[in-house]
Amino acid sequence: MINLFKLSKDDVIKRIVTAGFPAFRGKQLLDWVYNKNIVEIESMSNLDKGFKEYLNSNIKLLTLDTIKIIEDDKGETIKFLLLLGDRNTIEMVIMRYKDKDASKNRNTLCLSSQVGCKVKCPFCATGTSGLVRNLKAEEIVQQMSIANTYLKQYDAKVNNVVFMGMGEPFYNKDEVLLAASLIKENFEISSRKITISTSGIIEGIKELADKELKYVLAISLHAPTDRVRDYLVPINKKYPLNELMKACRYYQTKTKKRITFEYIMIDSMNIWPDDARNLANLLKGIDCHINGIPVNSIKDSEFKRPKKKDIYTFKKLCEDYGLSFSIREEKGIDIDGACGQLRNKERN
Ligand code: SAH
Ligand code: SF4
Repeated sequence: MINLFKLSKDDVIKRIVTAGFPAFRGKQLLDWVYNKNIVEIESMSNLDKGFKEYLNSNIKLLTLDTIKIIEDDKGETIKFLLLLGDRNTIEMVIMRYKDKDASKNRNTLCLSSQVGCKVKCPFCATGTSGLVRNLKAEEIVQQMSIANTYLKQYDAKVNNVVFMGMGEPFYNKDEVLLAASLIKENFEISSRKITISTSGIIEGIKELADKELKYVLAISLHAPTDRVRDYLVPINKKYPLNELMKACRYYQTKTKKRITFEYIMIDSMNIWPDDARNLANLLKGIDCHINGIPVNSIKDSEFKRPKKKDIYTFKKLCEDYGLSFSIREEKGIDIDGACGQLRNKERN
C-alpha cells in the first residue's frame, strides 16, 4: 500500500498503467482527489468495480482523522485537531481573509510539520512537550486535502500555505521540502504562496538558497541580541545571530528574494527603544519585512501581550529606522490561535 498524497500526479498515472489499467482511470482518480476533493473511493462514481478494488488494496488516501473543529465567531479562523494513524495529534488552522473582490479572498492554511518540537521556545505551546516525531510528507500534504474539503462549503480552496503550525520545518527538512513541492504541483499553489517559517536552522536556509527554491522564507527572529534570543529561541545558542544573518544574506544573494522576519512582541521584554535600534543595525542591507506578532499568552505565562500603545510605538520606532514593519492581524485569539495550544488543552 502506498499513500497517494506522497506521489506526484505523473507517478500516480505510471503506477496505474503499470498495474494494467488505462491512463484515463488515473486521471479520473486525480480529478476526484484534487479537483472535486473527494477522497472516499466508494464515492468516485465513474470508476469501475475492478479499478476500485485495485485502489482499495493498493492505494491509501486519507489516514488522518479530524477529531475537533473550532471556528471563531466570525468563521474567519478555523482550528482543527487531527488524529494521526499512531494516535498522536496535530493541529492545523485555516485563516480566511475576505476581500471586497471575492476572487481575491485569501484562504491561508497553517500546516504542522512535526508532532511537538525540540526547539522549546518558552512562549510556544508546541515546544512544551518536546519532539514526539516527524510527520511524513503524506501526513503534511493530507492537511491540504482536509482543509479544501472543509472550504467546499464556501466554494473556496486554500490558496496560501504557511509552515507555521506545530514543529520546526527544517528539523524535518526532507519530508517538508517534498511536501511543499507536492503541494505546489498537485494543488497548483505557486512557490510565492508557500511560506516556510524557521527558528533559524542554517542548513535549511542554505538548502533553499542552493536549490534556488522560491518559497517565501520567514525567520522567527524575536530578538536582536544573542542575550535575549538565547532565551526566547534556544536554538540561537547553536546558530547565533551573526551566523544566522550570514545565512540570510547568502540566501538573498542566491535567490534575490525578500525575507520575512517574525518578531513576537512581549511586554517588558523585547520592544524597548534599544531593540528597535539593534534590529535596524542587525538587518542593515537585507531586503526584508518584519511581521510583529503580539504574543499569544499561554496559561500562567510570564509572556504578556504588550499594551496596544507600546506595540504601535515600537512599530513606529522601527519604521523611523527605515524598517518595513507590519503587525500581524490578530486572528484566532478566542480559540487558542497559536499552534499547539488547542492540542495541549486536549491533553490536560
Ligand atoms: N517552528 C517554526 C514554525 C512554527 S511556529 C518557527 O518557530 O518559526 C510559527 C510562528 O508562531 C513562529 O514565529 C513562532 O515564534 C510563533 N509563535 C509560537 N508561539 C506563539 C505564541 N504564543 N504567540 C505568538 N506567536 C507564537
Ligand atoms: Fe518550535 Fe517554532 Fe514553537 Fe519554537 S516557536 S518551539 S521552533 S514550533
